[in-house]
Amino acid sequence: MIDRLAPEHRSWLMSRVRGTNTTPEMRVRRAAHALGFRFRLHRKDLPGTPDLVFPKTRVALFVHGCFWHRHLGCKKASLPKTRPEYWHQKFALNVERDERARVALERLGWKVSVIWECETKDPLQIATYLQALLSRRSEGPRQPS
Ligand SMILES: [Zn+2]
Repeated sequence: MIDRLAPEHRSWLMSRVRGTNTTPEMRVRRAAHALGFRFRLHRKDLPGTPDLVFPKTRVALFVHGCFWHRHLGCKKASLPKTRPEYWHQKFALNVERDERARVALERLGWKVSVIWECETKDPLQIATYLQALLSRRSEGPRQPS
């Protein structure tokens, strides 16, 4: 089949594929906004370009797709039937990249958290998650680790 996508549509599609402004992320952004938390999006100067960054509590939050980032035990993280070697390698790279970003961020003093796509269905669940994540840090001086 001949590719008949207009360039604009193609770049829109590619941004969807890359995972920017995907629906689960939008849901988390909406919830964070509704709760009044201040955050920045896609800080490219930070390792792994965290989806949401909360400067006040120094929290870097990733909204991960269960399939691409391999949510353990999640049924959305199934393995495609065809070309298993290809997928294994691709997934291993993704997981490795995520892990590297987490380590690098923690070295820089960020608390790193992941909210999974399948956990973003219920706005109330997101709100509870964000509140627990972001209020704990503002309680007092940082504990030495
Ligand atoms: Zn999941």
